[in-house]
Amino acid sequence: MEDQTIRVQLSETNKQKPKSDQLIFGKTFTDHMFVMDYSDPLGWHNASIVPYQPLTIEPSAMVFHYGQSVFEGLKAFRTKDGEIQLFRPTKNLERLNHSNDRLVIPPIDEEFVLKAIKQLITVEKDWVPDAEGTSLYIRPFIISTEPYIGVAPACHYKLIVILSPVGAYYKEGINPVKIAVENHYVRTVKGGTGEAKTGGNYAASLKAQELVGKEGFAQVLWLDGVEKKYIEEVGSMNVFFKIDGEVVTPMLNGSILAGVTRDSVIRLLKHWNIPVSERRISMEEIRQAHQDGKLEEAFGSGTAAVISPIGQLTWEGEDLIVNEGKTGEISQKIFDTITGIQYGKMEDPFNWIV
Ligand code: PMP
Repeated sequence: MEDQTIRVQLSETNKQKPKSDQLIFGKTFTDHMFVMDYSDPLGWHNASIVPYQPLTIEPSAMVFHYGQSVFEGLKAFRTKDGEIQLFRPTKNLERLNHSNDRLVIPPIDEEFVLKAIKQLITVEKDWVPDAEGTSLYIRPFIISTEPYIGVAPACHYKLIVILSPVGAYYKEGINPVKIAVENHYVRTVKGGTGEAKTGGNYAASLKAQELVGKEGFAQVLWLDGVEKKYIEEVGSMNVFFKIDGEVVTPMLNGSILAGVTRDSVIRLLKHWNIPVSERRISMEEIRQAHQDGKLEEAFGSGTAAVISPIGQLTWEGEDLIVNEGKTGEISQKIFDTITGIQYGKMEDPFNWIV
């Protein structure tokens, strides 16, 4: 960073804020955004908070052609005392740099970007909703802007942070979903970009999602891209199973995204002395556990829903019903605890709140 000051240009007119019960995920954006540029040899510079507005980028900008981009997703919550708090933001910025490394994007100064996010949220504080379960979604992202259509890492980038107020993920309590195990398409492979949060992974996931969506499934369960045997993730969430008293989740193997919620779930379970392990889990093992009556719970974890219980897994024409299709005890307890900490209703023994 050349210059650590953040220039602020406030917008002259402000938008009308939607009502808390009318918030649709990802459709409404606040009045301002944070922008910073990168160029060689200046490094990251021009940090500014400006009115939310369209970008002027050349059609030859590299991001449009080869997808050199990364992003993050985290949330700000309003407590009942009216304060605004972030949940483990340093983990997201650390992961952003991890993604940068994989996509050959120059690293950011994590501390400085956190400061910028805090300042942006201070400008937009009235946009943090206060109704039950609502939050302000924070989307930092970096795109390669250099006008050049050769395949190479770019020399120019933009980091932008936009904010979007979001409604409660669950309107009537958390409810289990139906999942189709994906045997044909894969999200990523070991050695690929699965560990990074980059647009291409999501583009690659759309086809499978569209096909199962037509059959009434909420998401797909992704298997490993080599043997199509081992479980990786569910939709765009990490996945957990409770088998015979032990909670298991696929270990980070290079193709799985290291979820912040995943890490929080593991740490909570350890804190409660509930056995938890990170290891390889095959779909065959899950079928066997189900057959033996030992598959007690299954759930996804991620920033959007926190916990999304799995009520049914369909694999090779067989429906495996989990916990009679109901939300399990552990799933509910984890959900209540993480959201309790996020909204300042529960003690935060891990210092997760900023
Ligand atoms: N896997 C994928 C592919 C994701 O996009 C996400 C959401 N960021 C997750 C897992 C969950 O990560 P987190 O808990 O950090 O939201």
